[in-house]
Amino acid sequence: MELLFLGTGAADYNENHRTMDGYRRNASLLIDGCLLIDPGPCVPDALETFGVGIKSIRYILNTHKHADHYCEATVDTLIAHGATMLTLKNGEERAIGKYHITALEGNHAVAVQHFVISDGEKSLFYGLDSAWLIYSEIDYLRAHPVDYAILDGTVGFIEGDYRVFEHCNLQMILVMWQSMRPFVSRLCISHMARTLHTDHLTLSREMAKHDIEVAYDGYRVTL
Ligand SMILES: [Zn+2]
Ligand SMILES: [Zn+2]
Repeated sequence: MELLFLGTGAADYNENHRTMDGYRRNASLLIDGCLLIDPGPCVPDALETFGVGIKSIRYILNTHKHADHYCEATVDTLIAHGATMLTLKNGEERAIGKYHITALEGNHAVAVQHFVISDGEKSLFYGLDSAWLIYSEIDYLRAHPVDYAILDGTVGFIEGDYRVFEHCNLQMILVMWQSMRPFVSRLCISHMARTLHTDHLTLSREMAKHDIEVAYDGYRVTL
């Protein structure tokens, strides 16, 4: 399974920040060039930047309708080029092509779905956007261990920020990671907020001490 992070930033990144050092597009992930999680506003630009043909995208999943994750113009463009939007209920499992997809209810300000995606050999948990994972998700992951998990690293090492009730700060990530290690082989954070983080290098060095990867736009992972 080949992962390509098309965007790794929170909603406080926009076009105006394009020229800044460490610019991140809104969070989005492409699996094997064909399965897209979150058709946000930056997806067309990311596809062009990272050399992905838009016609290769066959399936679209959407975690939730916040504007950094769902953009109608992007959806229309992808569908016009042959993609299909997949809609699952919480707890539903579905086979699509070589993939087995499970939708799980997440913990966010609005209704959000997280996904466990398996290609029969490797599996991935996509957990954006989210504060603490809710028990039913952990219950599922304990029964279905994954090779790779992507969690919400929005808030940085900041304490006392109200957004931890819909996103994670990194203290929360460290606590969850300790408990998730038996059923998650590798952990990566994404969805970093522009205003709540240091630069990528400092962040990734800090998280490397804990065996946690920090995604950046264009980051490719082979599972
Ligand atoms: Zn978001
Ligand atoms: Zn959101």
